[in-house]
Amino acid sequence: MSKAIALFSGGLDSTLAILALLRQGIDVTAVTFLTHFGCDISDKSSCSKDPFSAAEKFGFSVKLCHLADKFIEIVKRPKHGHGRNMNPCIDCRILMLKEAKDLMGITGADFIITGEVVGQRPMSQMKNTLSSIDREAGVEGIVIRPLSAKIMRPTIPEIKGIVDRERLYAFNGRSRRPQMALARELGLTDYPLPAGGCLLTEPNYSYRLRELLDHNPDPSLNDLHLLRLGRHFRVSPLCKIIVGRDQGENERIENFAGEDDYLMRVENFGSPTTLLSGICTADSPLF
Ligand code: SF4
Repeated sequence: MSKAIALFSGGLDSTLAILALLRQGIDVTAVTFLTHFGCDISDKSSCSKDPFSAAEKFGFSVKLCHLADKFIEIVKRPKHGHGRNMNPCIDCRILMLKEAKDLMGITGADFIITGEVVGQRPMSQMKNTLSSIDREAGVEGIVIRPLSAKIMRPTIPEIKGIVDRERLYAFNGRSRRPQMALARELGLTDYPLPAGGCLLTEPNYSYRLRELLDHNPDPSLNDLHLLRLGRHFRVSPLCKIIVGRDQGENERIENFAGEDDYLMRVENFGSPTTLLSGICTADSPLF
């Protein structure tokens, strides 16, 4: 039986891509990549979708793979630049495909599947960009995008007859209607709303991250986690104040405080937790 590695976010498109290949008798191992910029737990999009429920229902396996520091490096210095916000989508896709290629070697898979649809996103999913992403990741000819395969050049598995091109699709553009119709046809009823992307696509988070990197090119993981919490005040190039907005944030801010940071709260009074992060000296403007 032929095997494939699938890039799997848990969203509609990547699930459909997998189902289209399962129907052709391909043994699919899905890989869900995690980063430090995943969505908040309150997010109802595919960003936070549990990848295991669809896997269990339709009969494929899922591996989780944390991109950790490799991803942080491309966020800081993406070769292909950032998107509208701090999202380095092109470098991100290249990194994911390289990781998927490594997994191919480990699992003995023949090719890679992604749920990308040509023209769905302005930069990273244009036809030419997809080809150059494959080239740079070293996976040219072995990535099948089942939802748009019929409007793309045939891949090696299609040419060899491992995958029947006629049973793939020609979706193109931003409309989700064709995917929703296909979901009905394939019995996929429980899928999340389309996601805008990871946290790096959010303007507020991106603003905070850019501001942090301007002052500290090598932030710690705690610094990155703190960007999701509280209100932030830059009081000097090296000193920042973060103030919790509710009890939950107060507790999380305390957890992420570094050894050299100061935590302040008013004793016996319902005050917000306030963190002084960085080098905060008496000559910082607010003191
Ligand atoms: S939105 Fe985030 S996770 Fe998605 S491709 Fe862009 S950088 Fe990667």
